[in-house]
Amino acid sequence: MTAAAPIAAPTLPEVRRERGQREVFCGLTGIVWLHRKMPDAFFLVVGSRTCAHLLQSAAGVMIFAEPRFATAIIEERDLAGMADLDAELDRVVTRLLDRRPEIRTLFLVGSCPSEVIKLDLSRAARRLGETRRQVRVLSYSGSGIETTFTEGEDACLAALVPLARQGATTDLLIVGALPDIVEDQFARLFRELGVAVRFFPGRSATDLPSVGQGTRFLLTQPFLNDTARALEARGAHRIAAAFPFGAEGTTAWAHAAAVAFGVDEMHFRQVVAPYRERAKRALERHRERLTGKTIFFLPDSQLEVPLARFLATELGMVPVEVCTPYLHTRHLAEELALLPAGTPITEGQHVDDQLDRVRAARPDLTVCGLGLANPLEAEGLTTKWAIELVFTPIHGFDQAGDLAELFARPLRRRDVLKV
Ligand code: SF4
Repeated sequence: MTAAAPIAAPTLPEVRRERGQREVFCGLTGIVWLHRKMPDAFFLVVGSRTCAHLLQSAAGVMIFAEPRFATAIIEERDLAGMADLDAELDRVVTRLLDRRPEIRTLFLVGSCPSEVIKLDLSRAARRLGETRRQVRVLSYSGSGIETTFTEGEDACLAALVPLARQGATTDLLIVGALPDIVEDQFARLFRELGVAVRFFPGRSATDLPSVGQGTRFLLTQPFLNDTARALEARGAHRIAAAFPFGAEGTTAWAHAAAVAFGVDEMHFRQVVAPYRERAKRALERHRERLTGKTIFFLPDSQLEVPLARFLATELGMVPVEVCTPYLHTRHLAEELALLPAGTPITEGQHVDDQLDRVRAARPDLTVCGLGLANPLEAEGLTTKWAIELVFTPIHGFDQAGDLAELFARPLRRRDVLKV
């Protein structure tokens, strides 16, 4: 009997790690898309005027228009010199819930000011939940000290996991706050494949699937590290897959689930072929503008690695460097394996050093945060705001062309201006 050959560990590319000044939104930003996804949830930002300003101007949300946007803050003057912060928080929450009896789930969202950090929001959430039994009160941190902007979604969804009923669902769980239109498309695709699906979160913060031993889930976003861990702690199993960006990415993502659920290979191909072909045709329209163009990702949304893979393998772009705030290698193994060999990858940020490398490389396109885009444009570089990638539906076959368009548009504008 011969000894079994050792299983080769996947070879991961070399990763540069940088620490220094960061230029990234904080986790509060996630409220902008999460409150749309869960209209029965209310996000009470326990923060300062700076937090209000972020949500109001940078993210374009009218936080004082509560009935429409379901967001509120505790202002600085409430916090300054307060003898009993818990009592003040109770007072604000009581006033809010009396005025808004339709709220079923209340998220207390922590932020940076030292007064807020002193508050134990999880204890406050438990206390408030006990006195207001018709409302589920949860907490998470959106603080810029602890989170970058997509980590806000991760923290929020991880806070929801304990509320899911214990017990295994035989359905596939699709995890991540997707726009409704994308959710509908994925539901249709899996229905045709013969796989029943549930979404986490659903269209209501109270509509949660059961989770337990045997639950299998697919991530739709690479930044849901804590959420995945919380689901795994309940016994759920993550189906390892590339992320559903582009024709090939979405095919690989759906295929991983199809294999896990025993879908016949021929049936899979028959179902997926028309979607995949349509997506490839949509990408073809952008190929000429994008192929051979160099792209530099500064760290921002945590979508950098899958998007670099999409642009390189499906559209022939050349990633000069891919920087990401955090590199969850476990979740990104499939993506990293598909990146062109030798693509430089950086985890973390030292903004000055990274900007020096951007200036030296002078890429055709730099994907970065809002704060860096204007200075780089002033230096004659073409930029793409990373935040748009989070606010725009980009997942799945039907969005492949729109996703390519997001990168083609600034290059088209640059070419027009040159002329
Ligand atoms: S949470 Fe912190 S980083 Fe975010 S807006 Fe408030 S003060 Fe600024």
